Amino acid sequence: MFIYADNAATTAMSQKAIDAMLPYFKEVYGNPSSLYEAGQQAKMAIEDARGRVAAVLGCKPDEIYFTSGGSEADNQAIISAAKLGQKKGKKHIISTSFEHHAVLHTLKKLEKEGFEITLLDVHDNGIVTAKQVDDAIREDTCLVTIMYANNEIGTIQPISEIGAVCKAKEVLFHTDAVQAAGHLAINVEEQNIDMLSLSAHKFHGPKGCGVLYARKGILLTNIIEGGAQEKGKRGGTENVAGIMGMAAALEDAVAHMDENAAKLSVLRDRLIEGLNKISYSELNGDAVKRLPSNVNFCFEGIEGESLLLLLDDKGISASSGSACTSGSLDPSHVLLAIGRPHEVAHGSLRLSIGEDTTEEEVDYIIRAVTEVVTYLRSISPFWRDLVSGKRPHIFTELPG
Ligand SMILES: *Cc1c(COP(=O)(O)O)cnc(C)c1O
Repeated sequence: MFIYADNAATTAMSQKAIDAMLPYFKEVYGNPSSLYEAGQQAKMAIEDARGRVAAVLGCKPDEIYFTSGGSEADNQAIISAAKLGQKKGKKHIISTSFEHHAVLHTLKKLEKEGFEITLLDVHDNGIVTAKQVDDAIREDTCLVTIMYANNEIGTIQPISEIGAVCKAKEVLFHTDAVQAAGHLAINVEEQNIDMLSLSAHKFHGPKGCGVLYARKGILLTNIIEGGAQEKGKRGGTENVAGIMGMAAALEDAVAHMDENAAKLSVLRDRLIEGLNKISYSELNGDAVKRLPSNVNFCFEGIEGESLLLLLDDKGISASSGSACTSGSLDPSHVLLAIGRPHEVAHGSLRLSIGEDTTEEEVDYIIRAVTEVVTYLRSISPFWRDLVSGKRPHIFTELPG
């Protein structure tokens, strides 16, 4: 039995994406900057991909910059907006406390350079409101950066409303849409998004390839200096095959988005219903305003790491916190942001299902998690204290 339930960490590549890449390794391998035919063929291919990605996002091709992934796109968007703000004496940035580390760590760096960062509190349901953004905007605010969907708990932010607030107050708005792409509708024009980040490997494309959309007129700051690639804003020979795979994967994901979302949300809700039967556990994040692929639970009296290892023994690949924080003993900043106390934040489990996940697999996961939680509690001194009443429970025995 092998069940992959960690699609929020990365996805398997689709055959369409692989097929789209193959010609660019051995046939059309010219450097897009070379003027001879083989180079120009590669150049034409990536310009075609740029147009197709732009069409999906609802922008113009010259507003698309290819990057090495979501992290680079986040870094470049935020640093560019900060530098633009600085020129006008605006050094205030608004974000949330549960962003991806690519955003949070970039903001930390800017804070050391003298920028003032406001991290909005996230409500217990894992959502920030447009009103919070509106209230936080000041005369000197140069950027609002808020993720479309959270990578750990899958909650969906009111991006269109936030975009409208930012537009009305003439503040740049960036969204990390890495988890949203392929699951949720994106139209940068309609949603008033000025900058947006994508990562191919989250929607069945290759790793090491991403997109930064930046509205025309926004002057980007280079993260990577070098040649004239990407209008001089991102040096380095283009990842031609990666770009072709990414464009194919994005088009494919968006073409099947509605049917996939319908199928996934049925499986997601089945999984939530099954896991809700485990005593002293709770779903993290809003039950409805969440990605159709995401289930995230906290279990009292459990260590997330042990849970993952025993699930791995049963053939299930899942995650506790994000891939980036696992390995450290700190509880997930996302779970702390939604108000989970440390002791339950340590006992979290993220299951992110994919288009290939079956109902049988979901039922197997429910059985396996129930067994493992029961077993781990039976050997946990912490759980014994909860049972004996030495420590108070945080959750109720069963929800509702
Ligand atoms: C995965 C992820 C990233 C980072 O993307 P990479 O391409 O792996 O650098 C950024 N933001 C979110 C929300 C993610 O899930």
